[in-house]
This record gives sequence, structure tokens and C-alpha cells, in this order.
Amino acid sequence: KLFNELQDLKGNIRVYCRIRPLISGQAEKQTTIEYIGENGELVVANPSKQGKDGNRLFRFNKVYGPNSTQGEVFSDTQPLIRCVLDGYNVCIFAYGQTGSGKTYTMTGPNGATEEEWGVNYRALNDLFSISQNRSSSFMYEVGSISEHNGLVVPDATMHPVRSTSDVIELMEIGLNNRAVSATTLNERSSRSHSVVSIHVHGKDLHTGATSQGNLHLVDLAGSERVDRSEVTGDRLREAQHINKSLSALGDVIFALAQKRGQAKTLMFVQLNPDVASLKDTISEKDGEIERL
Ligand code: ADP
Ligand code: MG
Repeated sequence: KLFNELQDLKGNIRVYCRIRPLISGQAEKQTTIEYIGENGELVVANPSKQGKDGNRLFRFNKVYGPNSTQGEVFSDTQPLIRCVLDGYNVCIFAYGQTGSGKTYTMTGPNGATEEEWGVNYRALNDLFSISQNRSSSFMYEVGSISEHNGLVVPDATMHPVRSTSDVIELMEIGLNNRAVSATTLNERSSRSHSVVSIHVHGKDLHTGATSQGNLHLVDLAGSERVDRSEVTGDRLREAQHINKSLSALGDVIFALAQKRGQAKTLMFVQLNPDVASLKDTISEKDGEIERL
């Protein structure tokens, strides 16, 4: 429903869906993906309902199937990155349940090769390389924050950077701040939002005119519904906080899309195609599809 409303406000907002592969060797077996169309159509099937009754049609600007590469995904994201040098505020974020590939899309797998780099690294690389061919000089500042239970965790200070390797170094410091052990990292990252912000200050070498663009790259907390009967105390408060912040997100995106200003937003809706994730994939409750 939200997406249909946003379709009327084309231009400032795009929604891409990315489906990660089933991971062999795990208990995941049966896919719920019935059909992927060239023009952003996606049909999700509920195998417990026979035939067409179990099918749901969704529309996106684009759908990437399980075999899509990081390079393919980035090629459609790249034009947006370039707008940052023209003074736009660009926000790219990944939304989806834990394990649906948000971090894979935004950052890449652990120990990623250059081929496997996610949007973060590719975007920065792109900014640095294209800014060299412009008739302006650019200065970059980067900060990354992790938000947990409403608390903003450092490293929130802005640091000047000159190359992709400076940024990688900074992001690794940020990630290490989040890490205590591999398990707690995973646990904590799925219960917190993490944001990398890049401020780009431009100065035209001929006229001296200045501009500022911003790029925000966001890996959101897992969108999975938490069963109220299963959690209590801190876990319940945490789940309520995450759900509240994710539903506020819908309002923010809508407001952004209406404001025809210098803002562009790209949302990656991440899906785990496994049948066990169906409830989170279609967000269905008593036969109704919930709003985002
Ligand atoms: P999330 O951040 O949403 O919790 P992850 O990005 O950690 O999910 O992905 C969960 C697992 O699936 C990881 O092992 C990741 O490497 C793998 N994965 C996710 N997306 C893809 C993909 N497009 N291709 C291959 N493996 C993927
Ligand atoms: Mg993650």
C-alpha cells in the first residue's frame, strides 16, 4: 500500500527488492518465490494454500533474483550516488528481517573480495573516482553511528577522508566498536540500526561557488515481528522500540517523497525466500497485508 502511494510521487524515491539465495546445507529448502518480472513484478506463493489462492503480487521499481551480483545491483544504484556531487541528500537503506541479506547488500559478506563489495564500498569508490574529473574540488567527511535502544553509539564524530581506503579503515573501526564476539555482533547488529554518513563539500574551481551533498547508507535493525508472548522485560521494550522506529520510517519516507527538495531515497527490501520466512515476507496477519 505504501509503495502504491509512493508510485504517484515518482522521482525522489525508488524501491528495489532483492531476494537472497537459499543457503545449502541449512534447513532451508522450499522457495516462496513464484515469479520475478522484468518490470519489478514479484509473485510470492504460499505453499500451504493450493493454486492461485496462495499467490500474492507485489510491485517494485526492480526485483533482483537470487543470482544477482553485487555489481548488477550497484549499476542501478550508481546514478543516485552521482547526485551527491550535485548537492543532493541521498539516503540508501536496507530493510528486511534478520538473515535476509541487508548487510550483504550494504557492505558485503565477511571478508568480501572486491567482487563481493556491497553498496557502501562501491559508492565511496565511485564518489572518489568521479570527483577527480569534475571542475570542482571536493572535501569528504565520514561518520558512522550505531543506534541501539534509542542510544546513539559512537563513532558519531565526522572524520575527513581522502580515499576509499581511509573510509574502509574508518568503517572497520566502527564495526569493531560494535563487535564483542562474532555471536554478539550478529545479535547486536540485528537489533540496532547502523548508519554511515558521508558529507561532501564541493567548491567550483572557476566561480568559487560552494555546495554540500550528503550520502547516508543505512543497515536497519531486523524487521521481524516479535511474538509478545515470547519476550518480556528488556527484550520486549527493545522489540517495541524497533517496531516503533521502523513504522516511523514509513512516515518519514512518505514525507520525503512529497517534499520535492534536494532529497533522493532508495530502499532495498530484502527477502529470505525460504518458506519458513513467509510470515515476515508477506507481513500477513489474519488474511490482511499489513502496511510496511
Ligand atoms: P541480515 O544483515 O539481513 O541479517 P546478512 O546480510 O547477514 O543478513 O545475510 C545472511 C546470510 O546470507 C549471510 O551468510 C550472507 O552472506 C548470506 N547472503 C545474503 N545475501 C546473499 C546473496 N545475495 N548472495 C549470497 N549470499 C547472501
Ligand atoms: Mg545484518
